[in-house]
Amino acid sequence: MNCTNCGTRMSYNDQTTKLTEFVCPSCHETVIDWKAEARNARVH
Ligand SMILES: [Zn+2]
Repeated sequence: MNCTNCGTRMSYNDQTTKLTEFVCPSCHETVIDWKAEARNARVH
């Protein structure tokens, strides 16, 4: 994933079983990517 703000390739932290957090090393933009299991849980 590239930063939506500056286009730099983002690093990620696999924080929990429910989400992955991407962080831009240049501007510190943060993007939370919810995993499928978490999405399904939220739908119900
Ligand atoms: Zn950035």
